[in-house]
Amino acid sequence: MAAISLRNIIKRYGTGPKANQVIHGVNAEVADGEFIVIVGPSGCGKSTLLRMVAGLEEVSEGDIAIGDRVVNDLEPARRDIAMVFQNYALYPHMSVFDNMAYGLKIAKVPREEIKTRVDKAAKILELGHLLDRKPRALSGGQRQRVAMGRAIVRQPQVFLFDEPLSNLDAKLRVQTRLEIQKLHRELGITSLFVTHDQVEAMTLAQRMMVMNAGRMEQFGTPEEVYNRP
Ligand code: ADP
Ligand code: ADP
Repeated sequence: MAAISLRNIIKRYGTGPKANQVIHGVNAEVADGEFIVIVGPSGCGKSTLLRMVAGLEEVSEGDIAIGDRVVNDLEPARRDIAMVFQNYALYPHMSVFDNMAYGLKIAKVPREEIKTRVDKAAKILELGHLLDRKPRALSGGQRQRVAMGRAIVRQPQVFLFDEPLSNLDAKLRVQTRLEIQKLHRELGITSLFVTHDQVEAMTLAQRMMVMNAGRMEQFGTPEEVYNRP
């Protein structure tokens, strides 16, 4: 069974004669544990596609399945996904621990379980010694790791990354990319990662979805995509 299925996904913004169709029938199956990069120029529909998987945008037509469930009508919180954004806005008044725990508290996960999960994520991300700090007392790289920690503790079936590297300086971009690769090796969680950066895509992807003007033009390993005649 595929971890994520996109079945003839169509997206229009607006209705009637003024409707603007931005996704034109995308089909794809992502296997369990795969790291998929969605790549293409600005405006091609990458972010819209990701936001539909997240449940932040509705599909106009077609079905999105996560595991064996069609999730079209499920709100984001019930989709078993966690999203890492470009602007990883942490709560400034909360400690690292509370930032990571917040979503679980809202979901009424028991205290002991929250502590276990946050400690485990902190260990993986080497944040164990920083749990009492406020975000302002962290480096950029540490903040980005807290943002990933927030996603990990949810133990989702799927990670969604929306250009998480694009606002970082060159050094931090490399660091965070390595961190994401390490996470994927250790946890093996099925991931969709959006970027407009070809090099980033090639470096990270097991398979790449190459988008152009609302269509998926290629879907294959970096070797397959770049060796295509
Ligand atoms: P990308 O992530 O590849 O840069 P987007 O998914 O953000 O592309 O956008 C795809 C197209 O959809 C663009 O033409 C954009 O202007 C349009 N679009 C995105 N969001 C909206 C919206 N909320 N309302 C109307 N049009 C939108
Ligand atoms: P990005 O560059 O990350 O795709 P944008 O700056 O294009 O983001 O869009 C920022 C926000 O505005 C997003 O929530 C997007 O959905 C929305 N948006 C983008 N294009 C349009 C549009 N043509 N009309 C209305 N909203 C849009």
